[in-house]
Amino acid sequence: MQLQDTVAIVTGAASGLGNATAAALAARGAHVVGIDLDTSAAPALDGVTYVAADVTSEDDVRRAVAVATEQGVLRTVVNCAGIGPSARVLGKKGVHDLGLYRKIIEVNLIGTFTVMAVAAEAIAATESDEHGQRGVVVNTASIAAFDGQIGQAAYASSKGGVVGLTLPAARDLAQYGIRVCTIAPGIVETPMLATVSEEFRAGLAAGVPFPQRLARPEEYAQLALSIIEHDYLNGETIRMDGALRMAPR
Ligand code: NAP
Repeated sequence: MQLQDTVAIVTGAASGLGNATAAALAARGAHVVGIDLDTSAAPALDGVTYVAADVTSEDDVRRAVAVATEQGVLRTVVNCAGIGPSARVLGKKGVHDLGLYRKIIEVNLIGTFTVMAVAAEAIAATESDEHGQRGVVVNTASIAAFDGQIGQAAYASSKGGVVGLTLPAARDLAQYGIRVCTIAPGIVETPMLATVSEEFRAGLAAGVPFPQRLARPEEYAQLALSIIEHDYLNGETIRMDGALRMAPR
């Protein structure tokens, strides 16, 4: 699908993978609406309009989608908003905080679903292109969906939900000419990793077969663009992890 002069929504656009993707989509000529909780410190990018919105609020999501449709023909959604706190099912302080568990599912899974569904309604109302295509949704899971580590029960559940959503969403939205794919990144150098030490980072990189380093946000953006521009990719989750399979800890 062509991106030039179309409109794209990117969530989590103020930071990390979302920011790199917003920049890459804008460089391809898309008008990007970048959604994030706090957009005040988001880097200014040509072609990107930031909208402060919480993906767990249907009202916020509807408002952001309305901003997008005012700008032109909405074709693309890339869901990158997410959170990744860790806690054990049963730890020294007792049972996993159930409010935290709910919050992680709410942001990572229900937020992704809400943005996809509300945006799909707007995309379905557009004219299709000459191939019957109307749009593409790219969601973000994690390799934790498959090899979640100690402390990742909530995060891995949320990302497993995103993986499970991919095929039925693609089937549901096929009648509107909308494709749905998911990227499951390994470990990417983003602010989400800002709190870990250099030594820990080096240890993470050493565990990646090849290339033996952390992934770059631009590599995620490159894959998102490839999915969007590849008309036959649909209903699939693609790992982007340098062949990393995570150990229990
Ligand atoms: P990031 O730098 O923390 O960016 C995520 C952005 O989403 C942040 O700006 C965050 O805002 C925002 N956000 C959080 N909750 C939100 C909400 N309710 N509504 C709107 N925006 C919200 O993280 P990242 O590394 O780019 O991660 C992007 C996605 O990739 C996440 O889904 C993450 O789980 C996934 N992922 C990342 C890695 C990795 O190694 N980095 C690996 C696998 C998967 P705040 O900063 O204010 O919370």
